[in-house]
Amino acid sequence: MYSSNDLREAIEAGQLRVLYQPQLTADGSKIVSVEALVRWAHPVHGLLGPGHFVPLAEKTGVIIELGESVLRQACLDAKRWPDLNIGVNVSPLQFRDPAYAEKLEQIVRESGLPFERLELEIVESSYFDDPEKADKVLRRIRELGIKIALDDFGTGYSSLSCLLRLPLDRIKIDRSFVSGIDKVRSASIVHAIIALARAIGLKVTAEGIETEEQQKFLRAAGAHLLQGFLFSTPVPAERIDLLLASAQPVRGIS
Ligand code: C2E
Ligand code: MG
Ligand code: MG
Repeated sequence: MYSSNDLREAIEAGQLRVLYQPQLTADGSKIVSVEALVRWAHPVHGLLGPGHFVPLAEKTGVIIELGESVLRQACLDAKRWPDLNIGVNVSPLQFRDPAYAEKLEQIVRESGLPFERLELEIVESSYFDDPEKADKVLRRIRELGIKIALDDFGTGYSSLSCLLRLPLDRIKIDRSFVSGIDKVRSASIVHAIIALARAIGLKVTAEGIETEEQQKFLRAAGAHLLQGFLFSTPVPAERIDLLLASAQPVRGIS
């Protein structure tokens, strides 16, 4: 399909787009944060989702440049929304880069975004690939004031060990649990995850909220923030400007 060269050239040619998906308070009344999600505006194939090129970028090392480019763009865009936090996904491969923490600090500093408003979304393999090194990187990141969220919580092998060992601010409950809450088993698991996270002082975001029922359930179960198509798909920065300026509830935006 695509080669790493295509992707590198695309980054240099400015073909990466960053979309933003709102995260709302559990009652759905207010956007408090957005997650940056990368797209490739391919001249022939149109707007490609990360599934089409992030795995290739990870296999070939291009993810380092890709990650830096998304981070830079996200920090600059986020300065337009002084009341919002901004979540940026980090690949385990970026975490393995010895210069990661230093480059992160430099990019955020140059952008002028306060460190406290940035939340990095990591996955558990970022930690378990090399726990000793990850500990150092995470500690440095937190010293700067940047927050850490554990993405796709519950889908890996070591979710509980992560809670024990990682300096986290938040977990994001994976969509696969949310979509099953009409079944007793998933509902019980979601309840237990939220209770556990809250007991150790973590914030909880539920991903993939598509229905009113799911919102009601997650709100009652104690999730702090909700994200999903019920409110909005990922949208360009200009749409976020409009949503923030509007008095209308955020519902079904795309
Ligand atoms: P993620 O970080 O867990 O992001 C959430 C994904 O779920 C996004 O897909 C989002 O569009 C989708 N989503 C949100 N709400 C709903 C919903 O209600 N229903 C459904 N069906 N889906 C929903 P997207 O944008 O295709 O991203 C997929 C994954 O690609 C992300 O999962 C993340 O792991 C990765 N990714 C995205 N951007 C970046 C990036 O800049 N860097 C890195 N390393 N990975 C990225
Ligand atoms: Mg994420
Ligand atoms: Mg996720």
